[in-house]
Amino acid sequence: MKKNLSINSLTREELSEYIFDLGEKKYRAKQLWKWLYVNGVKSFDEMSDIGVKLRNKLNSDYLFNRLSIDKHQVSKDGTQKWLFELKDKRKVETVFIPEKDRGTLCISSQVGCTLSCSFCHTGTMPLVRNLSTDEIIGQILSAKDSLLDWDNKNRKITNLVFMGMGEPLYNYTEVTRAIKILLDNEGLCYSRRKITLSTSGVVPMIQKLKYELDVSLAISLHAVTDKVRNELVPINKKWPIKELLSVLEVYPGVNNSRRITFEYVMLEGVNDSISDAKKLVKLLKPLHAKVNLIPFNPWPGSIYKCSSDKTIKDFADEVCYNGGITATVRYARGQDILAACGQLKSNSVRLNKEKVLNINAA
Ligand code: SF4
Repeated sequence: MKKNLSINSLTREELSEYIFDLGEKKYRAKQLWKWLYVNGVKSFDEMSDIGVKLRNKLNSDYLFNRLSIDKHQVSKDGTQKWLFELKDKRKVETVFIPEKDRGTLCISSQVGCTLSCSFCHTGTMPLVRNLSTDEIIGQILSAKDSLLDWDNKNRKITNLVFMGMGEPLYNYTEVTRAIKILLDNEGLCYSRRKITLSTSGVVPMIQKLKYELDVSLAISLHAVTDKVRNELVPINKKWPIKELLSVLEVYPGVNNSRRITFEYVMLEGVNDSISDAKKLVKLLKPLHAKVNLIPFNPWPGSIYKCSSDKTIKDFADEVCYNGGITATVRYARGQDILAACGQLKSNSVRLNKEKVLNINAA
């Protein structure tokens, strides 16, 4: 009955319940969890301290699967991108960005996206479906396999960001289940500070998130007036800037050392004036905020241009030096493999089209 379920779809509590129902000792669940998330084994049969009877039962009840890698690309700057194929042949992308002092894995939460942010290529795709818990966890496990990242004292993936394809708060149940698995301190053991959920501003779900999980938060702000944000991030028509910021004022655990990140894509002549920078400071002043300025990554058919380097620098200086809010410029990584912000999935769509053309031509 359960055979269609991957073992990675279970939370720790569900796994313990399953083991209890089998009449097994409680510590078996702990052993199993460790094999799955500390040792990173790839089959039940590798779990040497679990008896054959229980391993057989596990084999008959659950799938033990990794996501299959359709394509793996490595950029000349070290960024890596995987195109994973899911059970129903849908595809998602996951990106690893290595830096001097950390390595960040950017995870997808949906296939496609409903939100149609006008600067984002992913937003030109319709939503196909939400990812399940095991498909979210599967991205991390498969990336760890691929990077040979199972030495927990020397991790390559130190940070996780839900910034890939999709709006994570529109897939709240599966995303929060996955986060609970990631946080478990006897398993993958990521701290709340090292997991960042990025949202375009689904206000009621931010309220819910704040009571249930206390992970770091990033907001795709991108504009300082409702008029411009309605264009760039259409969800703003439902939850305008004022409403969004007021819920953030009471987000728990936020302080000077743990601030909310505001993402701001730099679009020439749209949102990049000094007056915009001043308004941004005024809006964010009451919050513990930092700003991530993202030079726009153009894509075929996009109507925007990236602001000039000087404009971006002047904007950052205004926010940072005059406004007193930390502002960093996030330079694009992995552009040669289309792994930069807002470019995800577009390449796989193009590849699919190429495949279709090849099939038709054959
Ligand atoms: S920016 Fe995020 S929420 Fe907006 S369309 Fe792109 S993937 Fe969706």
